[in-house]
Amino acid sequence: MTINPTLAVDDRVDILSLTPDELSAFFASLGQPAYRAKQVFPLLARGLGFAEMTNLPKNLRGILEEKCVFTLPAVEKKLVSRIDGTIKYLFRLHDGTCIESVLMHYEHGNSLCISSQVGCRMGCRFCASTIGGKVRDLLPSELLGQVIAAQKDSGERVSNIVMMGIGEPLDNFDNVIRFLQLVNHEAGLCIGYRHISLSTCGLADRIRDLAAVDLPITLSISLHAPTDEQRSAIMPVNNRYPLASLFAACRDYYQKTGRRISFEYTLIAGKNDREEDARALADCLIQAFHGTGAPLHVNLIRVNEVEGTGFSRGTRESVNAFAAYLEKRGIVATVRRRLGADVNAACGQLRRSAAEGKPEA
Ligand code: SAH
Repeated sequence: MTINPTLAVDDRVDILSLTPDELSAFFASLGQPAYRAKQVFPLLARGLGFAEMTNLPKNLRGILEEKCVFTLPAVEKKLVSRIDGTIKYLFRLHDGTCIESVLMHYEHGNSLCISSQVGCRMGCRFCASTIGGKVRDLLPSELLGQVIAAQKDSGERVSNIVMMGIGEPLDNFDNVIRFLQLVNHEAGLCIGYRHISLSTCGLADRIRDLAAVDLPITLSISLHAPTDEQRSAIMPVNNRYPLASLFAACRDYYQKTGRRISFEYTLIAGKNDREEDARALADCLIQAFHGTGAPLHVNLIRVNEVEGTGFSRGTRESVNAFAAYLEKRGIVATVRRRLGADVNAACGQLRRSAAEGKPEA
């Protein structure tokens, strides 16, 4: 694989980030017929480089090599779970930075969890991805590239995408929207919006922007605490967008799109997993969505312990009791199955150990 160090600095075209219309305009600028875009777009989505596009005239392939950049994330490391076959990829990008993607196998198909940024600036206290801050945003081509590279490497088709890897997708809004439109395109990977979910720590203004774009994806909110005091203590974003503003944006999102919102709730022993927390969570959700008709769905997961954060996992019984309480209050609560437990649990840890030259756990 060729690693091109100049993607971000020279004036070559990042061809995998282009929509079919933009690709047509680009070919027109080269004096090429419009059907070239129709030829090339699906080939790019399959991960073919220009040299492999043997149905194009040789001189055109040469021109594309010269005027465009096309690189896929390179597999730097790959861990395969012996328990459930989950594949965790550490991908290296053209500039040497690393991100993670995780391929999970479910009965309904294969789901790829992708990263949206190199690092993250949201500062959630329990999260490994944010420890070194944000390095940069990922380009649409790099978001798409994770799907293409995982399919190419594994030989399996990705049918679902979750934007739950490293980074805050709504903090890279334009590139993420473009990616969603590209990955959904029928001439490309053709992954349905209903098979895509996006998780956010709660940038309320961007949630409204997302509602305005009106794509029928599933939105997940990383809630993790039932009160402003508790949430601000573990998620600095809550200082900017306290619960009332977050819930107001969620209500607008639901009213505009009709799409169910799910809430992620990471249980941290003794901090947010007690009975009184379950009660407070049920109270705040029921109150926030009263009269909207929105179904309430909470995904529970016990925290993955990250070195240096001081947060620990509670017992299986504590999460079951938490779920049972929510159910009693009419809130659907799912205890998330933990896939790939043996291939490095918490997201962001593989990248961190690579950056620090440490062997991964
Ligand atoms: N920035 C987005 C998406 C990335 S994080 C967001 O905040 O939603 C994906 C999910 O993993 C989020 O719900 C996040 O809060 C959660 N998460 C992060 N670190 C975790 C950890 N150590 N244990 C359990 N869940 C964690």
